[in-house]
Amino acid sequence: MHIESIKLINYRNYDKLDIKLNKKLNIFIGDNAQGKTNLLESIYICAFSKSYRAAKEKELIKIDKDKAYIGINVKRDFTDKFIEIKFEKNKTKRVRINRVEIDKISDLFGHLNVVLFSPEDLKLVKEGPSNRRIFLDTEISQIRPKYRYNINRYSKILKQRNNLLKSIQRNNKLKTIEVWDMQLAEVGSEIIKNRIEFIDRISEISKNIHYNITEGIEELELEYMPSFNIDCELSKNEIKDIFIEVLNRNLAKDIEKGTTEFGPHRDDIKININGLDAKIFGSQGQQRTAALSMKLAEVELVKSEIGEYPVLLLDDVLSELDIKRRKFLLSTFKDVQTIITSTEDIDVLDIHKKDKKVFYVSKGNIVNI
Ligand code: ATP
Ligand code: MG
Repeated sequence: MHIESIKLINYRNYDKLDIKLNKKLNIFIGDNAQGKTNLLESIYICAFSKSYRAAKEKELIKIDKDKAYIGINVKRDFTDKFIEIKFEKNKTKRVRINRVEIDKISDLFGHLNVVLFSPEDLKLVKEGPSNRRIFLDTEISQIRPKYRYNINRYSKILKQRNNLLKSIQRNNKLKTIEVWDMQLAEVGSEIIKNRIEFIDRISEISKNIHYNITEGIEELELEYMPSFNIDCELSKNEIKDIFIEVLNRNLAKDIEKGTTEFGPHRDDIKININGLDAKIFGSQGQQRTAALSMKLAEVELVKSEIGEYPVLLLDDVLSELDIKRRKFLLSTFKDVQTIITSTEDIDVLDIHKKDKKVFYVSKGNIVNI
């Protein structure tokens, strides 16, 4: 799939923008604080319904304005999608697909698939497990819509269980916690099963990508680290039984602490480079390349699941790679619509001779040269 056009009105630092993209490579060049990331963010929102960096939706509306609009035309193999989002201060956003307003935000998912790599993705390797859980949840949701529903349900059930644990603590009497345990294990086991399958597939693909980017010098290995011991071959029901057993075994401790110690909300992924934990031993460059390989693996995974490549968004990535790695990156994904931002004029002439469009971004204005 590819994005044909983007229209923005009063979005972030844009007054009015109307641009047509190239089917393959698009490069947005501009100084700091001109609107490059804002543009990528607007595309991301049309895919995932929310921003990855705005704490509040009203931040997306241009200062001193009341409304903002994003309109994106997506060309797909069989059907085209015109996605429109309207933001209004103190109101919930409204989403239209092919001019029909949708009732549930979840109906937006799946019309536009994107994979974003931004400088913040270094956190994926470098920082705490919650960053890797966000990665799992975002990327699995793209290919398994039910997964997102399960994640939301799981966190609601978990909250209820934790509330009950605290009330048992206060009242000093054991209430029926089994109901919550059953529900938590039912939904949790499905999440765990999805994560096992996902990591199994993504580890193979990212290993190959990483091997190529580093010209065979580095071997990347991803390993699922569930919060309690489970054999990856187990069925969903077997995982569920183990989960219930773990919850039972740990109940006294959970009551004491007023929180649930085990479950997918405590999962992690171990990232090894040449056998060493990249979080502890990896250099900055190795950590960045590992994060990039993991994100790029999602591009292949989306293709194999839905039959079309997603749109690849690369925010400020090329400047951090040497010439060989830039070439590798752009030549590997030559069939994928790629939208790149950069603060410097990057030379990619010899890679995409004709099939590219270069834009210059300045103070919320974009010109194509
Ligand atoms: P860099 O190269 O530093 O990453 P960039 O081109 O990616 O820069 P953006 O993150 O897109 O820059 O932000 C550009 C500008 O948008 C910033 O100066 C920011 O203050 C401004 N901005 C963000 N939100 C709003 C808003 N709601 N209204 C007006 N301006 C905004
Ligand atoms: Mg930026």
